[in-house]
Amino acid sequence: MRNISDKKRIVIKLGTSTLAHKTGKLNIRRMTNLVRVISDLHNAGREIIMVSSGAVGLGAGKLGLPEKPKQTNIKQAVAAIGQCELMHVYDDMFAKYSVTVAQILLTKAIIDNPNHCANFKTAVETLVGMGVIPIVNENDTIAIDELELEIGENDSLSALVAELSGADLLLILSDIDGLYTDDPRTNPDAEPISIVEEITPEIEGVAGGAGTSLGTGGMSTKINAAKIATEAGIDMVIMNGRDPEKLYDLFEDKEIGTIFKAKK
Ligand code: GLU
Repeated sequence: MRNISDKKRIVIKLGTSTLAHKTGKLNIRRMTNLVRVISDLHNAGREIIMVSSGAVGLGAGKLGLPEKPKQTNIKQAVAAIGQCELMHVYDDMFAKYSVTVAQILLTKAIIDNPNHCANFKTAVETLVGMGVIPIVNENDTIAIDELELEIGENDSLSALVAELSGADLLLILSDIDGLYTDDPRTNPDAEPISIVEEITPEIEGVAGGAGTSLGTGGMSTKINAAKIATEAGIDMVIMNGRDPEKLYDLFEDKEIGTIFKAKK
């Protein structure tokens, strides 16, 4: 049984491949549709917390860079530019439906520090109580990989956010329909998997590594997120973000994407 219709507090993770074109520029149609459907779910009484990527991708697109920068100081600068653009767009688009959004930026150090982490939880609880949608991203300008300060990808971050914010469901919107028995981009016989009751070595084996040129994660980071979420007692769904209307079907318990069932 899926029981998605019962879920109240939902963390929705949007990847760069969902939000932006391959050029790194905003996918306006996709974002417009996503914001409309998410606003509607919010209006229907669901508590939404978003984890959105796109800072580095949109920053690179804004500066006309052909790909995500590798040099640390450039990446920091690009993330600072793109995060601003990202929140500007969300604020503007959600305002059309009178939905207020708020930005929260996290680092690994914040999550690891009990006092800072408690502040994060309080902020989320307060914002959600006010009917606001918090939009979380990693603080890519401050969290630096070389110093091992970085989480580095938002699939795992979204699972941590789901755990810390007491979510009932983690919903990862991606550029793939769900988990398959093999990589559907290379194997036409690959079959979709509707429910994963347990993350076995076979399940880990079918999750390939590659992401897109602008996104960071592939299926393997999603499996890692699924482990964090299901161990924390939270169901997780991976589905395609291409057609936001399908979110309505998901919340009517139709068979969309892959659900990873919580362990307890
Ligand atoms: N935090 C990164 C960004 O906003 C994204 C990490 C990811 O793609 O998972 O660009």
